[in-house]
Amino acid sequence: MSCIYGPVPSRRLGLSLGIDVVPRKTCSYDCIYCQLGRVTNKTVKRDIYIPVEPIIREIEDFLGQMNVPVDYITFSGSGEPTLHSQIGLIIGQIKEMTSIPVAVITNGSLLFMDEVKRDLGQADLVVPSLDAVSKTVYETINRPEESLEINRVIQGIVEFRAQFRGQVWIEILYCRGINDDPSEVARMKRVLEKINPHQIQLNTVYRPPAEDFASPVAEERLREIKDIFGPKASVITPYRGNQSFGGKGEVETRIIDALKRRPLTAEDMATILGLHPQEIVKHLKVLLNDKRIRHRLHGRRSFYEVAT
Ligand code: SF4
Repeated sequence: MSCIYGPVPSRRLGLSLGIDVVPRKTCSYDCIYCQLGRVTNKTVKRDIYIPVEPIIREIEDFLGQMNVPVDYITFSGSGEPTLHSQIGLIIGQIKEMTSIPVAVITNGSLLFMDEVKRDLGQADLVVPSLDAVSKTVYETINRPEESLEINRVIQGIVEFRAQFRGQVWIEILYCRGINDDPSEVARMKRVLEKINPHQIQLNTVYRPPAEDFASPVAEERLREIKDIFGPKASVITPYRGNQSFGGKGEVETRIIDALKRRPLTAEDMATILGLHPQEIVKHLKVLLNDKRIRHRLHGRRSFYEVAT
């Protein structure tokens, strides 16, 4: 499977070319809200999960034929990117190829390791997650690999922020009744003051989660928390943009490829593929009939995912 995907419109980063450097569901966490489903390879072992050369070649090819302006090249996708032991080398090579800023979306769990701090040093933007600051809440929501401790994770993020020259945005995903109670929010505020990120982004469960009990918090509660955290905080709302761009390839193959990364609505797919929603619906019907994809309701929204 290709290591790059998109460009996809992102709620935070504009039009973003995604790079996946670890196999699907390879992560140091197994978050209850994960849109990939339950993690199958929970690990803190850093390794060359995917060889560097093909990744670089794919990025080179994309940049050579780029026909849309990309705002960010973003490491994210199907697992935890800092588990790739050569991510620093890959970022360095991208920086030699292009001036497009590089972002790393990470769960932040490995930033306590000096080599991970060093590896991300050349990125322009790092977005670590921090959903909880107390041990029990952390273990409930993120279900971390057994050697990980929340205090060490927080300390890693604090140290990284202090030495990193780029932007650090903290993302907090709130699940109703799990990490949104006033005492956890108050503790989080104190930790955020210590980290001193450039931005704080508040998110909730907008896509079908790994566990049915991971429910979204009301937008009103998110706004209350935002007010508690102050002016650096903002609430991320689901992407509703209207950028469209064409691309090569069979529509059904591209739909499947996009759904391998995460569940999407027909509206999301229309945006990503630059097609009219009615056109997308036609292809979805074929794929549903062939049992290559399935349909799932989350909240009041209709999502599609790859049938496994
Ligand atoms: S949400 Fe992110 S950090 Fe959590 S299990 Fe999924 S890939 Fe890992």
